[in-house]
Amino acid sequence: MAARSRTEYLAGLADAREIWFDGARVSDVAGHPILGRTAHTLADLYDLQRDPELQPKLTYASPKTGDPVSLAFLQPRSVDDLVRRRVMFKHWADYSGGMLGRTPDYLNAILAGSASSADYFGRNGPEYAGRIVEYYEYCRERDLCATHTFVDPQINRALSQSEQADPTVPLHIAGESEKGLVVSGARMLATLAPYADELHVFPSPSRTQQSDAPRFAFAFAVPIATPGLKFMCRESFDIGGTTGDYPLTARYEEMDSVAVFHDVVVPWERVFLKGDIGLCNRLFRETPAFLHGIHQFTTKNLAKAEFILGVAALVADAIGRAGLPQYQQMLGEIVDAVETERAYLRAAEADAITDARGFVHPNPDILSTARNYFPKIYPRLIEILQLIGSSGLMATPAERDLKSPHIEKDIERYYQSATLMGKERVRLFRLAWDLACSSFAGRQVLYERFFAGDPFMLMANRFAAYDKSEVVARVKALLARRETDKE
Ligand SMILES: Cc1cc2nc3c(=O)[nH]c(=O)nc-3n(C[C@H](O)[C@H](O)[C@H](O)COP(=O)(O)OP(=O)(O)OC[C@H]3O[C@@H](n4cnc5c(N)ncnc54)[C@H](O)[C@@H]3O)c2cc1C
Repeated sequence: MAARSRTEYLAGLADAREIWFDGARVSDVAGHPILGRTAHTLADLYDLQRDPELQPKLTYASPKTGDPVSLAFLQPRSVDDLVRRRVMFKHWADYSGGMLGRTPDYLNAILAGSASSADYFGRNGPEYAGRIVEYYEYCRERDLCATHTFVDPQINRALSQSEQADPTVPLHIAGESEKGLVVSGARMLATLAPYADELHVFPSPSRTQQSDAPRFAFAFAVPIATPGLKFMCRESFDIGGTTGDYPLTARYEEMDSVAVFHDVVVPWERVFLKGDIGLCNRLFRETPAFLHGIHQFTTKNLAKAEFILGVAALVADAIGRAGLPQYQQMLGEIVDAVETERAYLRAAEADAITDARGFVHPNPDILSTARNYFPKIYPRLIEILQLIGSSGLMATPAERDLKSPHIEKDIERYYQSATLMGKERVRLFRLAWDLACSSFAGRQVLYERFFAGDPFMLMANRFAAYDKSEVVARVKALLARRETDKE
């Protein structure tokens, strides 16, 4: 099957998935009055692949069938391939102003990177290498949408998995059968789960003692609609408001959920690592798989920073702040964030590395820095938007008020700004509110702080893992230099 259309994507959601939301099991995600809205946004993204003008920019010919498949599945073999794939990422990211963190290209790129590291999986046993490649091809040819889950439930982070009061809560291997691996327990987060076709279960970053390894060392994938697997959604920040009142929430509420497994059977061909805790722990350190995900979300971050710049520039203009130096400085910070993201991408592509099999990966050092940069800068970008918009961000009537014959004229007059009449100004400021202050906005900040991993551990590891030998040697050489030696 070629890259999917809107209808094909939505049809894929009509299965026996167990999604719990707002006190009830959801029987039809796409038709649900709240959850359905983001399903339709994602369907729009899929449909771009069928647009005759965009198709060459979003797809490539499947190496298996020749049909157009999403470029997110490409296994790059040149810098041009990386660039071509990034252009695809950007098209999708721009569609939501970067507000959808988990468009399907994110995990598709990680899966393609995993398959190009098949040898690594093969170290767990020869059959594992073939499985990851076959699974990758299976997803590519069906254009599937995946989500992933890493993190164990937040019980007591000071303890390892089996030291928890109830060690059966973290997801663990409960048994094996001819059909497959049997797993039980929970994982704390799977964003996008109601809208995905597949769940990738990666090794947990929790501390695992060597003696526990047989229970906690695994990587596998299952369909979202797997018997025994349920997803419990958080409350939605979408209260069903109009796209005028909540331009972002009403479209891009990608939803987060907890994944609970009750004796779920994972078919053997979908088990990619098992029993080797070292291979599990080092999966994303020793393979370039996750790098491809960072390439995707750095592109998303560029789109997001650009979107914030666009909104901030309009807000500043609207209320006469754009000419004032203290606001210009803050706007300049947003410009710097945009250009920093762009520079990370361009540099990571220019300094890409080619592995022994000819696969090309974006530069790991540059992308690690990019990954650590955005969690720090995103809260500041949002703070700047709040400082520029100030009280005007919340002093806005709702869309229904704009149509009320009793106050319509007053709104047009008393909400006018330097550049916009009342109704237009209200529309702009509702968008700015949704971006900087709403529940949706708060979740976006939390997302950017944490979604790519614990930021504190990432920074600590950055130093520990960075090759400092050359710079240390240079400093030592200076310390050892004796000017008197020359004299
Ligand atoms: C909106 C959102 C969406 C997400 N979506 C997904 C998803 O789809 N899939 C997924 O797998 N994950 C997802 N994540 C989770 C993300 O991977 C985690 O937030 C991240 O790995 C950190 O884990 P944690 O939130 O449990 O924080 P914690 O592990 O509780 O860490 C919080 C802080 O406590 C510190 N800490 C933890 N343990 C110790 C200790 N023993 N001693 C000292 N300090 C400690 C950490 O260093 C950190 O600073 C999402 C997160 C958010 C916010």
